[in-house]
Amino acid sequence: MSVSQTKGSAASAAPDRKTVKSVPMATRPIDLPQRQLTHKGFHRPRRKRQPRRRRSPALRFTPTAWAKLLFLRDFGPTEVGGFGITPADDLLLVEDVELVRQSCSAVSVAFDDSAVAELFDEQVDDGRRPEQFARIWLHTHPADSARPSPVDERTFRRVFGRCDWSVMFILAVGGERYARLQFAAGPGGSIRVPVRIDWSEQFPATDPDQWAAEYEDCVRHDTFSSVDLSVWDDMAEWEVAQSNGSTESDI
Ligand SMILES: [Zn+2]
Repeated sequence: MSVSQTKGSAASAAPDRKTVKSVPMATRPIDLPQRQLTHKGFHRPRRKRQPRRRRSPALRFTPTAWAKLLFLRDFGPTEVGGFGITPADDLLLVEDVELVRQSCSAVSVAFDDSAVAELFDEQVDDGRRPEQFARIWLHTHPADSARPSPVDERTFRRVFGRCDWSVMFILAVGGERYARLQFAAGPGGSIRVPVRIDWSEQFPATDPDQWAAEYEDCVRHDTFSSVDLSVWDDMAEWEVAQSNGSTESDI
């Protein structure tokens, strides 16, 4: 190969200005470098590869369940607590909120000894599995902050820490919300998760009369409630009994 040959071929590949000027825009030949005519460069412009987005888990409420939780939060002056009920195939979608009998003050909720077991037995009778009714612990804070109290943290760790997964959700009067997913698999851990209202499915109408009746049936106001975690220990025993196949509970 000589230098003159290289120069010659480069000159013949260069566009002739006069020729190009006379060709209408629509039929002007596209002068692309050869390397762009490959299938990678020509037909498909290269896109910057986006990192694969992993859908992070979120705690979701049906509109009806959310309305009920707001109603219960605002019905009395104290905290109020219960469990989120979910469908079998969507364990982070709360479709109902179930109260249990409880004594409440502005800073605490103490469930009655037999109340949790009764609720759980009813749920089993209705054909639900424990992960549908005993994993999402809900309560309200009558103040503006949804931050878990030290007692909340202790309860969540002691009672739900043995579950393969569980959620603590707190809704404050001011609207602030807090949700944390705790899991025991592998090394264990916990992460804050977003909270959403899921409008994608059909949902029943609100029923404030029934909600008020449930509240009055379950919630007793105390000016002062001592923090008694024994019922939570009983609940943990109930869980163990269930996982061992027993239908008996001595809570
Ligand atoms: Zn709390």
